[in-house]
Amino acid sequence: MKPTNSVFTGIETTVFERMSRLAMEHQAINLGQGFPDVDGPQDVRQVAADTLMEGPNQYPPMLGVPALRQAVADNNKRFYDLDVDWQSEVLVTSGATEALADSICALVEPGDEVILIEPLYDCYLSLVKRAGATPVFVQVTPPNWELREETLRQAFSSKTKAILLNNPMNPSAKVFSTQELQLIADLCLEFDCYAICDEVYEHIVFSDDKHKPLMTLPGMRDRCIRIGSAGKTFSLTGWKVGYITAAPNLLEPIAKAHQFITFTTPPNLQKAVAYGLSKEDDYYTSLEDDLRAKRDLISKPLEDMGFKVLPCEGTYFVTCDFSPLGFKGNDVEFCQKMVEQAGVAAVPISAFYGTKGPQTFVRFCFCKKDEVLHEALGRLRVWMGELAVS
Ligand code: PMP
Ligand code: GLN
Repeated sequence: MKPTNSVFTGIETTVFERMSRLAMEHQAINLGQGFPDVDGPQDVRQVAADTLMEGPNQYPPMLGVPALRQAVADNNKRFYDLDVDWQSEVLVTSGATEALADSICALVEPGDEVILIEPLYDCYLSLVKRAGATPVFVQVTPPNWELREETLRQAFSSKTKAILLNNPMNPSAKVFSTQELQLIADLCLEFDCYAICDEVYEHIVFSDDKHKPLMTLPGMRDRCIRIGSAGKTFSLTGWKVGYITAAPNLLEPIAKAHQFITFTTPPNLQKAVAYGLSKEDDYYTSLEDDLRAKRDLISKPLEDMGFKVLPCEGTYFVTCDFSPLGFKGNDVEFCQKMVEQAGVAAVPISAFYGTKGPQTFVRFCFCKKDEVLHEALGRLRVWMGELAVS
């Protein structure tokens, strides 16, 4: 028989799914795949439940229900002082993943180059390849994950159609500095290209400087596609409600891709997310406060066990270098042994590379109940003792 598509045939199932399956198999505590172990706000879920029962449950407008598009536009103004026309500049998607697929399909042609910053969120590479474009990799390297001007400049060429920027960045937990954002903006302007901005962790930033969308930099308003996700902002990852903000001439082809990929997203979930987005500032502040406390809860004990814990400025992940522990093997082997022997699942960082990445880093997800984090730390301490004598 003729071969199936070469991009998707034979690639591995995502590392998140694999680690979750392993965690279940070994009854391990799952600090691998990124999802909270407590569902998001009850009032938001209540709106979804009520709307499900009251209906209508038929196709909502293709661009998204007006209330949610308006709420996305309002939040752009409220948090970032961006003036957004909800009718022509906002699209609702089935998660940020669909938003990324729509944006890449709509902007990129075979022969184009797309810049990807490694470590990269796993779906980017396959989507770019499936669009027929050539990925051009730029690495930010641990421990500080800084973006070097020379390296980034070398990645741009006359063929560059877009750069994909994940800020705050999964898995490095990096928040790009204003200088780094300015550098990216300058190069996008110089080389006339777009920026697809995956900002799903926009409301999970731990410093006093709040998230700064690339879209707010001079000249970038009409070049950026800004992507958010209710999964992260409301701890409802299974809902898969995402949203795109982009200038009308970009949103128009992106919406055309959306109409043939999913067409719409469940209406009750959209209405509930619209309600959620209008929550008072204290909702957003407490989301960050809770997660900051959880980051701190696990970071110091991991450090005390001998991990080198890297800075975590945003997201709900902390990355650690396990090389000081003296483990003989790479990150995949480390995670395999850890899930089997310690009963704790994490994610190997090398899975976030299209090229060869570092081999001794693992990512722990900390958006879990405090008692679960304590239990995981206890199990790891016991395992550390066993590793030391083995
Ligand atoms: N981008 C990043 C950086 C992510 O970590 C995730 C995972 N949640 C997504 C996109 C996908 O988001 P969604 O579940 O809304 O599709
Ligand atoms: N974004 C989540 C993570 O980084 C996983 C989402 C998924 O499993 N596709 O862990």
